[in-house]
Amino acid sequence: MNEYEVITTVGEGAHGIVLQARHSISGDIVALKKVTLKKISTEGIPVQMVREIKALQCIEHENVVTLIDVFPQGLSFVLVFEFMPSNLWEILDNYRLNGSQIKCYMNMLLKALEYLHENHILHRDLKPANLLISNDGSLKVGDFGLCRLHNQGQHVAYSHQVATRWYRSPELLYGARYYDEGVDLWAAAVSVAIICAEMLKGEPVFPGENDIDQLYLVISSLGTPDETSWPGRSELPDYNKISFRPMDPVPLTTLVPSDVPKYEEFIGSFLIYNSSKRISAKSAMDHEFFRTHPLPCSISELPPLPTLKSVMFKDFDSLKICDDASASNTSSCSTLK
Ligand code: ADP
Ligand code: MG
Repeated sequence: MNEYEVITTVGEGAHGIVLQARHSISGDIVALKKVTLKKISTEGIPVQMVREIKALQCIEHENVVTLIDVFPQGLSFVLVFEFMPSNLWEILDNYRLNGSQIKCYMNMLLKALEYLHENHILHRDLKPANLLISNDGSLKVGDFGLCRLHNQGQHVAYSHQVATRWYRSPELLYGARYYDEGVDLWAAAVSVAIICAEMLKGEPVFPGENDIDQLYLVISSLGTPDETSWPGRSELPDYNKISFRPMDPVPLTTLVPSDVPKYEEFIGSFLIYNSSKRISAKSAMDHEFFRTHPLPCSISELPPLPTLKSVMFKDFDSLKICDDASASNTSSCSTLK
């Protein structure tokens, strides 16, 4: 830690505090994410932390944030990342994106997802605040605090309390413990829908106030699922705990009016109850959405980075950091961005 001079606090989320710092020798500007190992004495290093580090150490992709170093500090670990001056949430807060810019960001997100899914990594917390923007404007997926290595064919139960509520797929809302890449694909589509929805309505597409309301919003838009549209749904742990009156689907254009051509078909190929029918990241990149005008712009045509809103610097060591993603923590700590 002595090698770094802290400049300011840049983010404070559910699983860590993030500081901007300068390396005293190289002068490089980096982001330090400190996670406290409060359970080390009884349970060893939190599995969540090890997952994030291991996944990040293996990852090398232009659209995934680079982990430069990791070092222990007392009962904490500090992860050193390349510094990313903004995130997609801030971009949305400052600009109205046009169709070409939306497609350019979406393309970068899909490239990262294709790579992660090919490497059996489920991110599980995709949302605009975790899509970081670098100095040159490129998008890089960050925040692997909830990621999981996914072994196809292995029947391992996962936690369903992942993903921030507005981005949670229907199977997670019904308590599924066996799920796949589909959870990331749903969240990616909701993020894109938000980008467009916010241009027009100023609100996200499924802004549920609690998990039941979230499920209600999804079902009232996609219509009541049946055995054809969602085989096996009645086997999900919470399926029989909640029932809604039968509802018809609403056209996506009503839900998220957008003037970007082919938008409805594109988003519609992700927002599908049956997770195995959701379009893969790889196929989505070939969707005619990207080949229809307006075409994706180049990175240099993306909006300039908003000026960094510095948060007041707080003493790094005195900050309490929530390091475990236990069920209750995840839903209560996560910011709804
Ligand atoms: P959390 O699990 O707490 O959400 P994140 O890794 O998402 O942790 O970081 C929280 C916030 O910190 C992000 O939304 C972003 O604003 C900022 N942040 C994260 N990583 C970086 C980075 N590499 N460079 C600059 N800011 C970052
Ligand atoms: Mg985050």
